[in-house]
Amino acid sequence: MNIILLAPPAAGKGTEAQILTKEYSIPQISTGDLLRGATEKGDALSNEIKLIMEQGKLVSDEIIIELIKNRINEEDCKNGYILDGFPRTINQAEKYDEMLEEIGNKIDYVFAIDIDKSIASSRITGRRTCPNCNRIYNVNSDKLKPRNENLCDDCNIELKHRKDDNAETYEKRYNAYLEETAPLINYFEKKNILYHIDGNVDMCNTHKQIKDIID
Ligand SMILES: [Zn+2]
Repeated sequence: MNIILLAPPAAGKGTEAQILTKEYSIPQISTGDLLRGATEKGDALSNEIKLIMEQGKLVSDEIIIELIKNRINEEDCKNGYILDGFPRTINQAEKYDEMLEEIGNKIDYVFAIDIDKSIASSRITGRRTCPNCNRIYNVNSDKLKPRNENLCDDCNIELKHRKDDNAETYEKRYNAYLEETAPLINYFEKKNILYHIDGNVDMCNTHKQIKDIID
């Protein structure tokens, strides 16, 4: 069961990935983690990656595919895996497909979690964190807002609002996501493996839709 999750920021992709890894006993593979891990191995490929990163250059698609190929050969991937942060371009998607075909594998599900910009934005702009216990609140949500305005329920101290959690920054990230993924969504739709998931309600609802498709 090979899964790819696509979602704009604040659509709940991280939480959904966590639920899926537990429910189906499959790991989540992040290309960022793979690259960081690869630099510590000390073999030829590892040294090559280290040099590229030290020079501030981008690691090629070929190298990333090679790392994924090695990773999915490991025992914990025998039931499948969730790929995180990859592919981001059509070229990466095609090379990834080719590699899977070579090893007799394929992508099973690509889930695009769709969410309205205004809903996602209110999740972001309402976010408040307790600087003491790091508990996260959301003043725009009845379920997640603190009992007393802007105070941590447990510590009774003032909650913090991160500067980046504003509507303007969110809109930029949301639009960048749409621009980046539109061609990919098209690519996977043509292969009949893309499923649109409505992420506007809540996490439970998002997960139920995905589970219904898998089961
Ligand atoms: Zn607290």
